[in-house]
Amino acid sequence: MSTSLLPFFPPNMFEEERLAILDVVREVGLDSRQKFILGERVEQLEQRVRQATGAPYVIACASGTGGLALAVQSLGIGSGDEVIVPAFCCQPVASTVINAGAKPVFVDIDEETLVMDPDEVEASISPATRAVMPAHVFSVMADMPAIGEIANAQGLRVIEDAAVAQGASLRGRPAGMWGDAGVFSFFQVKALGAIGEGGVVLTEDSEVADSCRMLRNHGQTDSQRGVHHAIGQNNRMDEILAAFQLRRYDGLDRRLARRAEIAAYYTECFESLREYSLVPPPAGHDGRCYYVYSVLTDAREELRLHLSECGIGTHVYYPLPLPAQPGFRAHAGARSFPRAAAAGRRNLALPIYPHLSDAEVERIADTVVRFFESRQRLAS
Ligand SMILES: *Cc1c(COP(=O)(O)O)cnc(C)c1O
Repeated sequence: MSTSLLPFFPPNMFEEERLAILDVVREVGLDSRQKFILGERVEQLEQRVRQATGAPYVIACASGTGGLALAVQSLGIGSGDEVIVPAFCCQPVASTVINAGAKPVFVDIDEETLVMDPDEVEASISPATRAVMPAHVFSVMADMPAIGEIANAQGLRVIEDAAVAQGASLRGRPAGMWGDAGVFSFFQVKALGAIGEGGVVLTEDSEVADSCRMLRNHGQTDSQRGVHHAIGQNNRMDEILAAFQLRRYDGLDRRLARRAEIAAYYTECFESLREYSLVPPPAGHDGRCYYVYSVLTDAREELRLHLSECGIGTHVYYPLPLPAQPGFRAHAGARSFPRAAAAGRRNLALPIYPHLSDAEVERIADTVVRFFESRQRLAS
């Protein structure tokens, strides 16, 4: 059996794209128009995302965080407003709300799927609530139908943080298309990772789209430069990145399918470990995205050490819930978030990148299974 190192973040993730990187630099560098930001390649990328998702409007921007910031501002959220966000998540769900002058209201998550609990959302609505910002987490899409129903009934806007879920869908509806605005991230490790920072906002609302387009470029419209209709942002995408994304888009479905295959194999192997209280993510394909494959276990630290001794890298996401983070404590109030805290203590992500070989996937799964079986033998 091979004992080569399998790092969690593989250094060769973009091996296939090295020549494409040089190509797009050459292409944009030699283009006689010398337009490096918001040019025709950015427009083509927006078009490509529209085709892939059916979104009538797509606005390219500087990052996933930038996309959330555009979504928040374009919905008119500001001082005195509250936005309901998950306590267990990437920090931009809270920072973009605070940076707009509004208040994030944290809610706890489902203990197995790790996404925002719709009952908690309903219980956290106040007269100041303007929006809810569910995020898809690791391999599971948030319960968008339930959250959408609550939002509809209460007149709230929905911002869908689909940073990790590009290419996924739930009940036939693509991720990114469930809210008033949805966001994908092109950060290197996401589904359509780039060679730099980037993201997109998706929307069906032409007013939100116009507003995002204007706000991303200092409050100017495309047709009227020099007039600032609002206090905007510098939240633009550059041409080299867009050119690279256009090339990498072709392999997206293939890479996502490989990730899904690896996840299905892991989950099948790990179902038997439930009796040792290891919880794999839910099986199936609907509403799944396979950005990260995380198991939950009280023996997280021992498992992590064992895998590391066997040359297998792992990663712990969000060890501290957002409301417990030093930067957010002042915005958190007195509530506690026991399920978010437990997820922070119990989650362990295994390698799932598409260029893992079958033998490597089997080795990772075997190592996890044998860890729990031998621990059980020692205990009995
Ligand atoms: C990565 C991520 C973001 C932010 O995207 P960036 O492009 O890194 O700014 C937002 N939300 C979630 C859930 C993410 O995983």
